[in-house]
Amino acid sequence: MNTHHSSSLGDLSGKNKSTLRLVNQKSLNLPHHFRLIPLDYILIVDLDNTLFDTSSMDRSIFMPAIEQMRKYFKTQELADRAIRDIWTYPIDEVSRRHNIPDEIIEDFLRNLESENYTLDIKPFADYKTLNELDVEKILVTTGIESLQRAKISELGITDDFTDIYIDKVTDTHRIYKKGIFSKIVQESTYKSHQFWIIGDNGNAEIKAGRELGLKTIQRKKPDQTASEYADFTLHTFHELHPILASQ
Ligand SMILES: [Mg+2]
Repeated sequence: MNTHHSSSLGDLSGKNKSTLRLVNQKSLNLPHHFRLIPLDYILIVDLDNTLFDTSSMDRSIFMPAIEQMRKYFKTQELADRAIRDIWTYPIDEVSRRHNIPDEIIEDFLRNLESENYTLDIKPFADYKTLNELDVEKILVTTGIESLQRAKISELGITDDFTDIYIDKVTDTHRIYKKGIFSKIVQESTYKSHQFWIIGDNGNAEIKAGRELGLKTIQRKKPDQTASEYADFTLHTFHELHPILASQ
């Protein structure tokens, strides 16, 4: 069983030709490079904290699995400490910090997977800006499959993407986001310089994208430090169009 679970509960926590038309062709008084730039790009987009705020989820939906895991700990205090970390750190880090055996983590993930999720979540207010760009989008998200699918369905974003990939933390042969990106690029008629990775996590999709030589855009909160692997950062998707147009 693979023990490298890389998602926090927070993360739990011949393609279509698309052209991004920047300006109206009649604007001929604009500098040459702004007149009409045919941008054939594919955006590979993350879900958690990129398209919606994971902290807006009701935590009680995870309680059955958490209460089950609580039984493993010798004291209430040890359990509380580990459980607090579940909301902040990737599950493999929680396991390491609190010496939780792999079998316990695997049980926990299996219990999360078997849950029937009812969610009340909405995309970020600026999400619709993404759909105004005439460009192909692919969703790649890490987590518990049933939960990620419930999120996508509740957000009502399924049809906005030509493909949806889930990097399942319970998968015994995970290729992680990097492997998924690599496969997408290889199977596409697009060249690697035509892909943009858009996400919030500097150590996940942004790093993977950089390592594969793809362009990266980090969505970050104003107080968050920019990832060294991000080519660009933005706070809202209103900033996306100018970034794509600049390349
Ligand atoms: Mg994310």
